[in-house]
Amino acid sequence: MPDLSTELIHHAYTPPDGFAAPQPGVFKASTVFFPNVAAMRSREWKGKSSYTYGLHGTPTTYTLEERLCTLEGGLQCVLTPSGLAAVALVALALLRAGDEVLIPDNAYAPNKALAEGELKAWGITHQFYDPLDVQDLTDKIGPLTRLVWLEAAGSVTLEFPDLCEQVRICRRAGVLTALDNTWGAGLAFPPFDLTRGSAEPLGVDISAHALTKYPSGGGDVLMGSVITRDPVLHTRIKLAHMRLGLGVGANDAEAVLRSLPSIQLRYQAHDQRARALAQWCKSQDAFAQVLHPALPGSPGHAHWAALCRRDVGGAAGLFSVVFRSDIDQQRVDAFCDVLRLFRIGYSWGGPVSLVVPYDLAGMRSGWPEHLARGTLVRFSAGLESVDDLRADLEQALRIALA
Ligand SMILES: *Cc1c(COP(=O)(O)O)cnc(C)c1O
Repeated sequence: MPDLSTELIHHAYTPPDGFAAPQPGVFKASTVFFPNVAAMRSREWKGKSSYTYGLHGTPTTYTLEERLCTLEGGLQCVLTPSGLAAVALVALALLRAGDEVLIPDNAYAPNKALAEGELKAWGITHQFYDPLDVQDLTDKIGPLTRLVWLEAAGSVTLEFPDLCEQVRICRRAGVLTALDNTWGAGLAFPPFDLTRGSAEPLGVDISAHALTKYPSGGGDVLMGSVITRDPVLHTRIKLAHMRLGLGVGANDAEAVLRSLPSIQLRYQAHDQRARALAQWCKSQDAFAQVLHPALPGSPGHAHWAALCRRDVGGAAGLFSVVFRSDIDQQRVDAFCDVLRLFRIGYSWGGPVSLVVPYDLAGMRSGWPEHLARGTLVRFSAGLESVDDLRADLEQALRIALA
């Protein structure tokens, strides 16, 4: 008789085939068994034809990758341990010493910090361009430019760029485009088919997505994805992904798989709440400016209207306000502190509404002309009742500005 440990490890029972259920099974592995050495030598980890090692993919991660491709209209996908890791992976896979990357001035701040930190130290240069001025982008693309980041809408200030024209400019210059698609999430507009089935297809080369936000939808998972439609480009990213040892946990992948079926309904609900609240904020004289791309007058609104679904579901649940300049930082902080339903916290995409005050001066190359001067506060509308959220804003304004 083998020892009990050996018997437990090499146990004969295998469950019957034919178990079908709404959720796919969760497969957890570092090691994957091979039937023999020949199989081990012949298996290929770059495609999805077989399994070789947990880091290279499991049935759970392959399933999530395929569903994310469906969401965004892509063909290949890799998963990363956070949204920021997805952004960093794109840079590390595609940029080498002597190359230049262009980043919109309103980009997700850690993307800019990566350029100013590691990329600069490794001899990769960068320039920040004006997201609302396509001429500025045209002028900044030079012979060393290899990658242009795009973001629609921009982080925190939510300006909506002329994404189609930006992609055309990069195409003409032969430069790769990478969109941080966290805001659009594959729902507000199709990143790989911006002109929606027209004779001249137009799309970004790469879509990076913080799955932490709407795909997770719970405020409890960190994950990212990098989606492409070109096998050669995908292989460059996949090789860097492997060499950097980036992987995701099966339980986290399962949490995203669990949330994905409701993403469109949730996105619409977040959108509906944010639009109603942003509209209401426009009537409040504490605010010098309300930023939401679906609101007429918000920077880049016409570009949003041209690209995105205009009905509910064409915008995410984010909006920002700039307080009147005579309302100082202390009172804005007090306003945030007395909010009850809007919790103070980074990130967004979950059921709980969130609020963060930002010091814009430290985030931009200069104060953009299209933004009022004053303290900026960004809100993420959760899934609470819109009337309750409005009442919360109202009571906080009353108390803090009294
Ligand atoms: C949140 C966010 C990220 C980073 O995602 P994490 O999972 O928090 O690392 C990247 N880009 C945008 C636009 C984001 O909002």
